[in-house]
Amino acid sequence: MNDLSYHKKKLVFSKTDISSVAQKYKTPFFLYSEEILSRNYSSFSDAAKNAGLNDPLICFAMKSNPNRELVKILAKLGSGADIVSGGELKRALEAGIPADKIVFSGVGKTAEEIEFALKKDIYSFNVESIEELELINKLSRKHKKTARICFRLNPVVKPKTHKFISTGNKTHKFGILEKDVLDSLKKKSLWTHSRLVGLSIHIGSQLLDLKATGQAIKRLSEIALMTNISLEFLDVGGGLGVDYHPDETKKMPQISEYMKLVAKHLEVHFYSKTDLRPRVVFEPGRKIVAKAGIFVMSVLRNKVSEDNHFLIVDGGMNDFMRPAIYGAYHGLLPVREAKNQVRCHVVGPICETTDCFASDRDLPKLQAGDHLVLADTGAYGYSMGSNYNLRGRPLELLVKKNKELKVVNRPQKYEELL
Ligand SMILES: *Cc1c(COP(=O)(O)O)cnc(C)c1O
Repeated sequence: MNDLSYHKKKLVFSKTDISSVAQKYKTPFFLYSEEILSRNYSSFSDAAKNAGLNDPLICFAMKSNPNRELVKILAKLGSGADIVSGGELKRALEAGIPADKIVFSGVGKTAEEIEFALKKDIYSFNVESIEELELINKLSRKHKKTARICFRLNPVVKPKTHKFISTGNKTHKFGILEKDVLDSLKKKSLWTHSRLVGLSIHIGSQLLDLKATGQAIKRLSEIALMTNISLEFLDVGGGLGVDYHPDETKKMPQISEYMKLVAKHLEVHFYSKTDLRPRVVFEPGRKIVAKAGIFVMSVLRNKVSEDNHFLIVDGGMNDFMRPAIYGAYHGLLPVREAKNQVRCHVVGPICETTDCFASDRDLPKLQAGDHLVLADTGAYGYSMGSNYNLRGRPLELLVKKNKELKVVNRPQKYEELL
């Protein structure tokens, strides 16, 4: 059964009738599904094992959705975390993810965040510059530790994705070039209180074409061999895409296909050339959580300006940014199925022209008070939201496996904004 589809004209998400939820809770809100989230994690983890990968570690990219309850569910399933801030580290630990399953990415780690992570003995600092390594080494000496370091390699590849979510080329701020990785290994002073335990890549997000991924894994393998260090792990990053648009469904690589590609490239370019058997680390975000969430809104009113029909809804770009900042497509489904199509622009209340969830979309004629769902909003939804226009952050709800509804984050009150 499709996780979001009509039954007797009513829109159902993860076996839950959305109209009944929308009658009980004030819109707009995010609605997540424990069942879909768990299934996505297990599919990913099982596929890694089925591809024959050695002791895979899946580190959920927390920035895609750091909701405490969702992270707790993933922690129970055995997930690790890929974090990019001290806040995400705290959240991961609180939700029950053990420190030895946490990798810390990001170009701008502060001294305070590094010290906190050192004290917690995280699995790895995924280091993005030599200056960062110098600082970690210094702080590690201060705390009488040996920091576990993984270099994030810039593999110099160009994946086919939106330029704003591509990260693996020279002009991007992410990762370290091969030459700098190898040169730094010769400088003993950098390594007095640090040890290189891994090498990683992450070339972009919403990848639907695996060609660049294959090339990047080849580079990762070659440079891992050149280090002449017995690395504990190779981290292939995240980035696997989902089908937001129906046209993407056919193009989208299956998880099993992706795992086979990872396994094959590591075999050909790494394992076949050495006796070393580092484990493989993954950092998926979107693939795990995008389809585990929807955003439910109400229609405020219709506005017709000559040929333009605007459907004005109560959710805005501050709640869900992807259409505004990436021009991203997301499905829009009325909670009650109807015909009478009208071509409209679905817009929010924010005072920005880009506050538009869809342009020229054919939808049934809707009235004030009707409910509308923005699909596939579990990833980079709430986590990217803001208080722009002094709007409070929306409610987050979870449908548990037993069909119970749980409030997993209250809507923010005006008083909390000050
Ligand atoms: C954002 C990010 C990820 C997750 O990307 P997805 O496209 O959500 O899978 C993984 N690793 C790093 C370093 C990231 O910055």
